[in-house]
Amino acid sequence: MYAQARGQVKRNGIECHIHDLCRSAASATQDSMKQQRATFDVAVIGAGPAGAHAATRLAQAGVRVALFDPKAPWEKPCGGGITHQAWSRFPFLTGPDLPRNEVLRSLQISANQSFFVINEGHPLFIVARRDLSEMMLNRATRAGAVHFPRAVDNLETWGPQLRLKAGRDEYFARFVVGADGVHSLVRRYFLGPLTKERTLASIVQLVEGGPDDPALIHVTPFPGYFWAFPRRDCLCVGIGAMEHGHALKPALDEMMKRFFPGRKPLGPLHGAPLPFLIGRDYYHEPRVSREWALVGDAGGFCDTLTGEGILYAIWSADLFADAYLRGAPLAYDAAWRHAFGWHLRTGAWASSFLTSARNLDFLFTAITVCPTLNKQMMDYIWNLPPYHQLAGRLLRSLPPIYREWRRFKAGGGRIDPALLGPYQHLADKLKLTWDSA
Ligand SMILES: Cc1cc2nc3c(=O)[nH]c(=O)nc-3n(C[C@H](O)[C@H](O)[C@H](O)COP(=O)(O)OP(=O)(O)OC[C@H]3O[C@@H](n4cnc5c(N)ncnc54)[C@H](O)[C@@H]3O)c2cc1C
Repeated sequence: MYAQARGQVKRNGIECHIHDLCRSAASATQDSMKQQRATFDVAVIGAGPAGAHAATRLAQAGVRVALFDPKAPWEKPCGGGITHQAWSRFPFLTGPDLPRNEVLRSLQISANQSFFVINEGHPLFIVARRDLSEMMLNRATRAGAVHFPRAVDNLETWGPQLRLKAGRDEYFARFVVGADGVHSLVRRYFLGPLTKERTLASIVQLVEGGPDDPALIHVTPFPGYFWAFPRRDCLCVGIGAMEHGHALKPALDEMMKRFFPGRKPLGPLHGAPLPFLIGRDYYHEPRVSREWALVGDAGGFCDTLTGEGILYAIWSADLFADAYLRGAPLAYDAAWRHAFGWHLRTGAWASSFLTSARNLDFLFTAITVCPTLNKQMMDYIWNLPPYHQLAGRLLRSLPPIYREWRRFKAGGGRIDPALLGPYQHLADKLKLTWDSA
């Protein structure tokens, strides 16, 4: 049993031909030491943020890691927004090797034109996914993971090991990490496919634009939202729907016509699914066993309300690596549920409540006119205190929020343009008038 790979790999950051590995593996029948070199401790399938981070952490600790991905580094269809919690929790995201646009203010607009504004505080980093992919893949190979630019197309239990196939080539590992996105092969093999109800649909496109453009989220008439995220060299726009079956392309065309008319596309329009952590059974499904684990999108870890997944991809990989390196991989299941499971579950639940435009208008108006709610919401968005503290604080602040809401209603129930004044320049760029609020 030995790897029969052809092509190029990166090992310790150095390009080398797989023939070299094959050669050492081919003589494995005579040399058991070489045979061991051809068998990996852990095979990580997928080198997105989840797989690359898992590979980095494991390889740094001396684990022999094979990292499979035929596309990395690549521009995955994605908004590329990296939140405060993500970059503060994982400081390697703040380094000079990840170019970014830092956005301090963004407008959130509901279907009926109620606004709230995310203001100064903690910037949102907006990055090109290719840059993120390259930076994270380099970290993994520098740490000692071997990158095979191959798609794994088959997986099977092989005695005490796992046998992975990529075309006609075979690889062996004692443990496999599924970091291969929503349609994970590892998930399909061990747990069965992800049903359609557990995914969300979205489309995304890069168009002309850049840092001068405002960051914007606009709720769509159907349950979902349009976003525009300015990068250093372009504008990333897209629409996500919280239910299947909506016409996303005409909705995107409509939003572009209204806010960014005449912008030329810089590439094709991509359709891209997100996992939707909905339902008790899905939540309680195992993400780990003695021979496999699922991290990132493959585990279903994405915030339905915001679409944020980069944080949970890296965080889940980190928690898995901690558990594996302690010699207790099964502890990973309790760890992710404790760290962020509750947050993703309540987000999925809240998204079903927020599907009505009326509820969203109410919420956006309340965030705009009730300073106490606005503060809670900003802390939620920036993920400042731990989630249970946030929930406790929100409950305690309900009386002042109620008083502020009553005052707003007593004053005629219209948003005071003065509240939005500081954001006039953003509104001007979008030709928005506050009195439509
Ligand atoms: C339209 C859209 C916008 C988004 N915007 C944001 C945002 O602004 N901010 C944010 O935080 N999150 C965003 N997300 C979510 C984020 O993109 C994902 O949650 C995140 O990329 C998950 O990382 P991952 O490593 O788990 O999976 P991925 O990034 O999907 O990586 C999986 C990797 O596995 C590889 N792979 C798949 N199958 C195989 C195989 N058989 N063999 C080998 N390799 C394989 C793929 O090539 C890929 O590189 C967005 C998602 C979408 C769809």
